[in-house]
Amino acid sequence: MRCRHLNDFGFDSFSPDYGFGGLSLDNTQSLGPYIPDAQECLSCGICVGSCPTYRIRPEENYGPRGRIRLLEKVVRRGEPLDANEQTALAACTQCQTCETLCPSKMAFSELYRQALEGDHFKPTRSLLVSWVLALAMGGEKTRQRLNRSIRIYQRSGLSRLLALLARLPLLKGIQPLLAPLPVPHSPQPVAGFTQAQAEQPLGEVSVFTGCIANLFDTATHNATIKLLSRIGYDVTVVENQACCGAAYAHNGEMSAAKSCLKQNLSAFANSNAVIYNSSGCGAYLNDYSELIADEDKKPHELPPFLDVLDYLEQSDGFHELQFKPLPTQVVVHEPCSQRNALKNQTLVYRLLEKIPGLRIEPLADNQVCCGAGGTKMVTQPELANPMRDEKVAALSSSGADILITTNLTCALHLTSGARNTGFSGRVMHPVQLLAEQLID
Ligand code: SF4
Ligand code: SF4
Repeated sequence: MRCRHLNDFGFDSFSPDYGFGGLSLDNTQSLGPYIPDAQECLSCGICVGSCPTYRIRPEENYGPRGRIRLLEKVVRRGEPLDANEQTALAACTQCQTCETLCPSKMAFSELYRQALEGDHFKPTRSLLVSWVLALAMGGEKTRQRLNRSIRIYQRSGLSRLLALLARLPLLKGIQPLLAPLPVPHSPQPVAGFTQAQAEQPLGEVSVFTGCIANLFDTATHNATIKLLSRIGYDVTVVENQACCGAAYAHNGEMSAAKSCLKQNLSAFANSNAVIYNSSGCGAYLNDYSELIADEDKKPHELPPFLDVLDYLEQSDGFHELQFKPLPTQVVVHEPCSQRNALKNQTLVYRLLEKIPGLRIEPLADNQVCCGAGGTKMVTQPELANPMRDEKVAALSSSGADILITTNLTCALHLTSGARNTGFSGRVMHPVQLLAEQLID
C-alpha cells in the first residue's frame, strides 16, 4: 500500500486523538494511508517473536520494533544510520509478518520501501546477486546460455570446484542456487502457444514466466499451461516479457524495477489475463497498479495479473477435472509473499484436496519466514540458513514425502537445506502435483 507523508498535507505532527481544525480523523481517510510515526507503535512486542531475523539474532534492531525506529530516523527525521544500524535494517527479509500481526496496522513495508527508495541504506549486494539481477534483465538468450552452462556443469563434475569457490566472500550464498543442479536438470521447453483442449475454448490467457523461474522451474510453467489448456483456455507465453521487477525493488533499484514494468506493459498489452504461478512474482505484479501512478498511467491500462490458484479455484472447468489417487503425505509451506501479501494461502489446500488419498498438512510455524527473502538467502546465509533449518527440521518431523510451496526462491532455499538432512522427497509447486495427477 503506497502512503503519503502527512507533512505533504501541511501537518507536522498527527495524533489519532485529535482533528486539525475542520479536518477530522474521518476526513483523513480520504487522503489515503499515512506514514505512521514510530510513537504510534505501541511497543507491545506482539510482532517481535515472529520476526525471523530476531529469532536468530535477538537484538532490538534485528526485530520490527527496533527497525521501525530506524526507519523513522531516516525517513521522517532525515538522520543518517551508522553502519550497524544499516546492516540491521538491510537484514530484514521484507516478509511483512510484523505488519500482518500488528494490532496498530503499522505500515512497515511502506516505511521500508520509502527508506529504500530514498537511498537511505542499501541491502548487501554480492557478485551472485548482481548475476541474478543481470539474469533477470538478460532476456531469453542470456537464460539459454546459462542453461547450457548448467548442463556443462552437470556433465563435467565441476561441483567440487564450485563448492570450494562458494567459500569465497563474493560467492557466499551460492549453495541455494546450486542445490537443484546435482539432480537431472534439463529445463523443458515452454511452448509459445498451447491450444485449448476443449471443443469450445473459453478464451486466451497468457502465462507470466518470470526470470529465474524460466531457468529453474519450467516444470511449473508447463504444469500451469497443461491445467489451463485442459479447462479450456488457449495459452500463450509471450517472448518479450521481463522479470516482474521484485528482485530490483527489494534492493532499492526502482528505476530498473520500473523498466521491468514498462517492458511487461508492452509485452502483455493485448492479453486478456496474465496468469502467474510464483507468489513472489505475484506479490510484486499486484503492486504494479501503484507503481504506474508514478508513471502517470492509470490502473485500467494494466492487464489483469491473476494468481493461477485463484484462476483454477474460480473456474468451473477445474472442478470437473479428475485426478489420480495419491496415497501420500504432503506438507504445505506458506511463503510470506502468499500469506502476507497475496493472502490466499488457503487455496493451496483447497485445490490439493482434489487429489484422492492425499494427506495435506501445513508445515509447522508457517507464519515464520524461511529466510529466502528474494536474494537474502544469497546475501546473508548466516541468518537465512538457520531460518531455513527450522523449516527443514519441521519437514523431517512431519514425515512427509513432498513439500509444497508456491514461491520459487523458497523452494530453492528449502531444497538446499533439505538435501543436507538427506530428505529424499520432492519440493514442488502445487500445480505441478495437480498436473502430474491429472487423468488424461
Ligand atoms: S518484515 Fe519480516 S524480517 Fe522485516 S522486521 Fe518485519 S517480521 Fe522482521
Ligand atoms: S505489533 Fe505493532 S505496535 Fe506492537 S511492537 Fe510490533 S509494530 Fe509496534
